[in-house]
Amino acid sequence: MTYPGAQSSDAFMNLSTRITNITGGGSDGWGVFYRARQMVADGMPVTELTIGEHDIRTHPDILDAMHKAARGGHTGYAMVPGTDSLRNTIAARITERTGVPTSKDNVLVTPGGQAALFAAHNAVCNQGDTALYIDPYYATYPGTIRAIGAVPQPVVTSPDTAFQPTGAAIAEAAPGAKSLLINTPNNPTGVVYNEQTLNEIADVCETHDLWLISDEVYDTQIWEGTHISPRALPGMTNRTLVVGSMSKSHAMTGSRIGWICGPQDVISHLINLSTHTTYGVPGFIQDAAEFALDEGTGLEDEIAAPFRRRRELTVKALAGQNVIRAVPVQGAMYAMLDIRATGLSGEAFANALLDRENIAVMPGESFGQAAAGHIRVAMTVDDDSYAQALQKLIEFAQDQCK
Ligand code: PMP
Repeated sequence: MTYPGAQSSDAFMNLSTRITNITGGGSDGWGVFYRARQMVADGMPVTELTIGEHDIRTHPDILDAMHKAARGGHTGYAMVPGTDSLRNTIAARITERTGVPTSKDNVLVTPGGQAALFAAHNAVCNQGDTALYIDPYYATYPGTIRAIGAVPQPVVTSPDTAFQPTGAAIAEAAPGAKSLLINTPNNPTGVVYNEQTLNEIADVCETHDLWLISDEVYDTQIWEGTHISPRALPGMTNRTLVVGSMSKSHAMTGSRIGWICGPQDVISHLINLSTHTTYGVPGFIQDAAEFALDEGTGLEDEIAAPFRRRRELTVKALAGQNVIRAVPVQGAMYAMLDIRATGLSGEAFANALLDRENIAVMPGESFGQAAAGHIRVAMTVDDDSYAQALQKLIEFAQDQCK
């Protein structure tokens, strides 16, 4: 993902290539997003179905806990690895949900899942190492890998297998690679990896001695199937680093709080990294996160409920038409729609939809080559607006076929 203000590396000859090359350059399909934002700034009504952010804000009870902690004095430097009690809480949650005995020494609190993704790759990849990731992918993945000096290499999946990666495709890319990054439930596809996929992934990791970095930030948003954390698969606990976050599960995107869970010795090294980079996460945010986790699945289900409803709306709206084909929406807050029957690319479709209907969606091409000819719809506006936008989107697609 390229921030519009960032220029090509040529303009910054005396900066490090590590930083000037983070985005890889070129068009990355985020033009529609920034164009929609500009239209909104110019006062135009736009239905934004672009990025993964809830249409609700952080729960008032979590904010009360945050306020109480701050007023109670937890505003100084906090423990760099995370407070003992939050790390214990996260560890207990992981133990309960995965069956893998996990203690606070397996957990580092980070400023969001993004910092955990950076830390995880930093822990396992040397400069120049190849780090695999699955295409389609969350927008920051290749840049995160470049940011630590490793070389990102995509493993391309296919819409024909609902974008589930195969062990064979990963095995082909694996020789010489150091790590594999996966994400289930998946952004952008909304797919939940099944047991067979995860077993194949585990086999390849063992055979080729790969670290597995498992991004599970959508683990509370499951609409179909079961979330399996690959850290719990036989032989995987010592080669898996799990990325977790409160952003999606608790609508705490702006609080910047997440974690990394893995073998104790990796976590001790990562505490050194935190000491020399972030110096931890604010104490009052950690206390609020602990409060939120202590609320258990009740609160998580409440926060996930709107997406569950809109997923049903999506299924209903798409039934009885045959221009758009939906990849099964099994989890997370997105629907990936196959619009190849319109003859348009995802990017052309998204731009035309924005111009004609003031509806902003992400072109599949923003997430790699595998999702070309698709668009990603974030189910992140209220139900009525969502249903209306989807209807217009379907009619727009049908018009392209006339
Ligand atoms: N992984 C995935 C797949 C995501 O979609 C996101 C945010 N959209 C993140 C990680 C990072 O989330 P955060 O840093 O807010 O925890």
